[in-house]
Amino acid sequence: MYRTHTCGELRISDAGKTVTLAGWVQRTRKLGGMTFIDLRDRYGITQLALDATAPEELSSVANSLGREYVIQATGEVIERQSKNAKMPTGDIEIRLTKLTVLNEAQTPPFTIEDESDGGEELRARYRYLDLRRNPLRKALELRHRLAHEVRNYLDSLGFMEIETPYLIKSTPEGARDFVVPSRMNPGQFYALPQSPQTFKQLLMVAGYDRYFQIVRCFRDEDLRADRQPEFTQIDCEMSFVERDDVLEVFEGMMRSLFKNVLGVEIANPIPRMSWFDAMDRYGSDKPDIRYGMTIHELTQDVQGHGFQVFDSVEYVGAIAVEGIADYTRKQIDELTEWVKRPQVGAKGLVYIKYNADGSVKSSVDKFYSPDELKAMAEKAGAKPGDMLLILCGPKRKTQTMLGVLRIEMGNRLGLRDPHVFAPLWVVDFPLLEWDDETARFYAMHHPFTAPKPEHLDLFYSDRKEDLEKVCANAYDFVLNGTELGGGSIRIHDAKVQQRMFEVLGFSDEDAQYKFGFIINAFKFGAPPHGGLAFGFDRLCALFGGQETIRDFIAFPKNNKGRDVMIDSPSYIDQIQMDELFLKSTAETPEEQEKKA
Ligand code: ASP
Repeated sequence: MYRTHTCGELRISDAGKTVTLAGWVQRTRKLGGMTFIDLRDRYGITQLALDATAPEELSSVANSLGREYVIQATGEVIERQSKNAKMPTGDIEIRLTKLTVLNEAQTPPFTIEDESDGGEELRARYRYLDLRRNPLRKALELRHRLAHEVRNYLDSLGFMEIETPYLIKSTPEGARDFVVPSRMNPGQFYALPQSPQTFKQLLMVAGYDRYFQIVRCFRDEDLRADRQPEFTQIDCEMSFVERDDVLEVFEGMMRSLFKNVLGVEIANPIPRMSWFDAMDRYGSDKPDIRYGMTIHELTQDVQGHGFQVFDSVEYVGAIAVEGIADYTRKQIDELTEWVKRPQVGAKGLVYIKYNADGSVKSSVDKFYSPDELKAMAEKAGAKPGDMLLILCGPKRKTQTMLGVLRIEMGNRLGLRDPHVFAPLWVVDFPLLEWDDETARFYAMHHPFTAPKPEHLDLFYSDRKEDLEKVCANAYDFVLNGTELGGGSIRIHDAKVQQRMFEVLGFSDEDAQYKFGFIINAFKFGAPPHGGLAFGFDRLCALFGGQETIRDFIAFPKNNKGRDVMIDSPSYIDQIQMDELFLKSTAETPEEQEKKA
């Protein structure tokens, strides 16, 4: 046996025991005649001690140790002279009688401490060393805990975890597929699943009425801090359910995760908001409802006063920001520049200061009387001391910009406390989104989402305006302004599914080639069904109070989609290329080098 205890386990009550520990050397230090070694494993750190009277063979081993050496240490647990209240094992140390080096270690390229001196790139290259650090260990522990709780909860409700294949045919979820060439089927490709969507629906046809899977999904998208080319979902599907049945089960799951993992009680019931309300009031389909500052439309109030900018637009809207009526000219200019950044895209910013003394001051004083300005401020919810920020333009675009501004002001005013959790269901999305560029409809969720039953007639209309009005029986779970999950009641009628492909512009042959398997399956007794999926990496990050998901994934990719530790993607041998019937049109590494 390599060890009798872990490095996080021993307490004062163990004093007098002879124990053996194994782990990594965090640091060694000499103090007077004493040598101290901090021994670390994933459970904690225990101090090993050696005094001047120790035999030569012991002290010479102790003196030879470097950082991150793997050692085995035997000795007696004794009460420490100077205790360390910050460490769970801080009351004791091990008086060494035996010390064995199990493996030496090169000096690590960065310090393995809570606050490391290593840059992101360096730590990514040595991810296995970075993973020795507490913050990452804690992140992975949290991930494990959440996965375990999810399985417990769903198992207790009769859900079965069933694996679905990774080498499949493309499922459209709105992203690009990763593809895998098939050696045995020349010229043909598998796609890696963007999600198990079609398979879980086929499982419903097969009668497995409560399915879930904590599953890897693959999407070839441009990456941001909260995106990875491969990510994990808690994927679920149920049969013989309506929307509210699904929402109830998964509200329960969220409630139990919050309670069991964070000890937090979240809203019961979780509020629901229609997509239209979310856009009108928050300028976002994933509103952060931890604070107000909602959007108010002022189009009617401002038009017809001779201010050309407002008169010529579809929509004028405002948010009332608390307590900033004392903003200086400079601060307002800075904010105006901020909304003009391409990421926001506004042409300019109009303000109304509702001063603490009840007077008003605005950048459009010329066109409106003080009473009119005050009435607008009050309509948008401003109180004395607040300032109204006004944007204008096309309706949804302007609301979206106001939504971005609202988040920014929420950050500036410290209203987005990561320890407050405000969950929300967004429901009743439009089913379809029109794209001017390609002049066709796209499914807002995915093509398997059912229209709301009361909108079926509209769904069969040939008029674009009618189709734009069709609502989906879909829902998103939103937490603190982040979309954590989403799903829908599905189409289970082959004819409706065929109509959906038609609306999306697929020819009959194309729909049959790509989705024939599911259209056919629906002809063999498909039950009504629906489900959803949660982004598991994001869930972990939110529970861990972090913005980026990378720390919650053991081996993530960087924002170029590279794993810099194993140096992938990489070139493959010509033999492999030939076997796969592949010819690359990309420059060879040599050609690239020559260019550089
Ligand atoms: N497959 C969907 C997604 O990945 C979720 C669902 O509709 O269940 O977003």
